[in-house]
Amino acid sequence: YRNDEGPPPVAERRKTRQIMVGDVPVGGGAPVSVQSMTTTLTSDINATLQQIAELTASGCQIVRVAVPSADDAAALPVIAKKSQIPVIADIHFQPKYVFAAIEAGCAAVRVNPGNIKKFDDQVGAIAKEASAAGVPIRIGVNAGSLDRRLLEKYGRVTPEALVESALWECSLFEEHGFRDIKISVKHNDPLVMIAAYRLLSARCDYPLHLGVTEAGPQFQGTIKSAVAFGALLAEGIGDTIRVSLSSPPVEEIKVGNQILESLGLRERGLDIVSCPSCGRAQVDVHTLAEKVAAALEGFPVPLRVAVMGCVVNGPGEAREADLGVASGNGKGQIFVKGEVIKTVPEARIVETLVEEAMRIAEEREVP
Ligand code: SF4
Repeated sequence: YRNDEGPPPVAERRKTRQIMVGDVPVGGGAPVSVQSMTTTLTSDINATLQQIAELTASGCQIVRVAVPSADDAAALPVIAKKSQIPVIADIHFQPKYVFAAIEAGCAAVRVNPGNIKKFDDQVGAIAKEASAAGVPIRIGVNAGSLDRRLLEKYGRVTPEALVESALWECSLFEEHGFRDIKISVKHNDPLVMIAAYRLLSARCDYPLHLGVTEAGPQFQGTIKSAVAFGALLAEGIGDTIRVSLSSPPVEEIKVGNQILESLGLRERGLDIVSCPSCGRAQVDVHTLAEKVAAALEGFPVPLRVAVMGCVVNGPGEAREADLGVASGNGKGQIFVKGEVIKTVPEARIVETLVEEAMRIAEEREVP
């Protein structure tokens, strides 16, 4: 498939009801959104806003902040006001922080009514306040916090147990007529997680927040999330995603955006099609590909750039790309849409690709 024809679409998205997280629609056919969570103390307003600004710049659309203390709750009005993207307050147990978050102007709250009910049953009051303020709630069930009753019933954390728990949590709000909900059923094992979301998707029409919880350090977490989200999104399941990595949150956004681009669920930005190199390579492809990716990072228009290590397969592969290079004899043949437009010395490959990329960008901007 050439760029101009576009890739074949993934499966039709499952129909879910739509909620609004601030100005970001989630579900109901809205584009799949990418979110992350800050790692700063929420009470440290400047540090939190700084991290939100970095996340926003990297393409984050919704951000979640933890609210475990009164100081954190007190910081919410300023954070919600100054954040460029909708803020979700993440709360366990304390209803008073839920009310504070709604009052503070947070776009949504993540809280499980089951926890609230156990300690201080204000589920009805929360439903009323959230409804009046137009604030949706995410119910988040995961392996670590599964209800003891369900653990006993199922013997371990199974997809069925996660789904039963989530739907029971929803029923606590539904009793009060509140349905402005999205749900997550996270597990650290992608297979359990995939099965849980499939089951959940078949049993309700609430929008679904995908996540592999405690996915691990960057490499492992990236693979687990890509595999799990890829399987579900390719079936049309999932309305918003959060990649969980033991890494700075900006990395989560990069991975999330790349997953959506790979599935054609978001316009592709810079796509480097580089060969793995082999015994025929006449250039250090790995270094060249890294240099080209770095030189074109953040390129303003979608662009597919091929970086090929030799002229044997290079031209064929480069034909599919907007722009490309095939190396040989210390030189680089530069291709535009499969046609060789010039040959330059190896040292000038990167700058020539950047020049040609700029020219393509200018041409595309001309109406
Ligand atoms: Fe090997 Fe050339 Fe293919 Fe790269 S393009 S993998 S160097 S044959």
